[in-house]
Amino acid sequence: MKARFAPSPTGYLHVGGARTALFNWLIVQKAKRSGEEASFLLRIEDTDTERNKPEWTQGIIDSLLALGLNWDEGPIFQSSRVTTHKQTALDLFDANLAYWCRCTKEDIENRNSGKNTVGYDRHCRSLNLKYETGYALRFKVPLESATKFHDSVRGDVQIENTTLEDFVLLKGNLSPLFVLANTVDDMDLGVTHVVRGEEHLYNTFKIILLWEAISKLNDSNATEERPLPTFAHLPLLVNEKRQKLSKRRDKVSVEEFFDMGFLPEAMLNYLALLGWGPKNNQEILSVDELIDQFDLNDVNLAPAFFDIQKLNHFNNIYIRDMDVDLFRHRALDYLKIHSGLILNKLSDTDINEILELVQPRINTLSEIEKMIGFFIEDEVAIPQDLYDKTYLDPANKQILLNFKDALKDCEFSKDELHKVLESIGLSFGKKLGKSQAPIRLALTGSNVGPPLFESLMILGKDKTLARLDIVAKTFLG
Ligand code: GLU
Repeated sequence: MKARFAPSPTGYLHVGGARTALFNWLIVQKAKRSGEEASFLLRIEDTDTERNKPEWTQGIIDSLLALGLNWDEGPIFQSSRVTTHKQTALDLFDANLAYWCRCTKEDIENRNSGKNTVGYDRHCRSLNLKYETGYALRFKVPLESATKFHDSVRGDVQIENTTLEDFVLLKGNLSPLFVLANTVDDMDLGVTHVVRGEEHLYNTFKIILLWEAISKLNDSNATEERPLPTFAHLPLLVNEKRQKLSKRRDKVSVEEFFDMGFLPEAMLNYLALLGWGPKNNQEILSVDELIDQFDLNDVNLAPAFFDIQKLNHFNNIYIRDMDVDLFRHRALDYLKIHSGLILNKLSDTDINEILELVQPRINTLSEIEKMIGFFIEDEVAIPQDLYDKTYLDPANKQILLNFKDALKDCEFSKDELHKVLESIGLSFGKKLGKSQAPIRLALTGSNVGPPLFESLMILGKDKTLARLDIVAKTFLG
């Protein structure tokens, strides 16, 4: 079997595209696992020269590799096959399966206006025109029957051929159109499984007609040699308002999610659940489990909600459960690119300790900088609302003052400070969880963060005292 991912490089890799790539990749890995000869092909559909850019192609390739979706064949650039696409179209003309059309867009619109019809009216179909510059080549849709196929996601689908337009194969400048290039490539490259977004469902009827026509061209046995592929059209991805994800409105590019500090493995796991889920409803699945359990026939028809909150939650789980050394590497790589300054200001020992403290407490790598900024800042800014909420309580003020005094003489160790603060807090009727709040706010400017006593050790006695002092002084004024 052979499946393929065939992106058009008109932007970054969209999460919907990544899901398509993943599902294709999964069926190939599954087939390999069962001993079948199987291959995953990457084909870059770069024929739309006005909208394609080489950097988009590179971005797509990088994102696929980061997700671990490596391919066995390719990348094949569709643009390198244009001669074959054109020749196939001309062969269809020679076999009377296509015709030249001289109608301009305006001609077609004028004929449709007032008639409540849209699209091309097959005007030139019976004119037997010879090619002239500017003429388009159109496919002669066989009008007598219906086209049907079985979609692995949607079941049996069909359309009356009379409702299909005689679609364009070659434009007026003789450049091949999507349906032609896509069909010819899938045929020539031996693709057996076409898994893609549902926006291509309608095209598939045209593709099937074209596939059958091309098969008939040279060899009457060719249909048997190039059977139609298995088709599966994956459900739409929608946002929280159930609107189709759009690059203008929503965060959709995989690269953007990596920049926000999402891990490829968490993304991959989450993408797998967009329109599919294992029978036991398990949500966190290793790549091995995905390969074992994924089945195209179990993909749902309903639009899938791309829920960033849930992705956050998945990322949190993957970070939390990650081996400490691996997390350190990933975090350092991320910080080097996104917050180099932080690394310059901390010693290696400190940064290692700090990363261990934050690992269980973050959803994304981008939260690290915010969470550990207080270690390097000269002064911490305390938001007014947090200040009021914390220090309007007289007990909290007193806890801070007493802790500051006690610090001067006690041993500056994690255990000792823990004991000291606990006993000060209890004298005000507060458990340790509560009595940490006024101290944490003074030291970090936040009410959440890495564990307090470990943080104090990294911060050091002088800085700790200085920060407590600054807040203590505000009590006087
Ligand atoms: N190039 C098409 C797209 O990016 C995909 C075509 C296909 O998978 O057949 O939408």
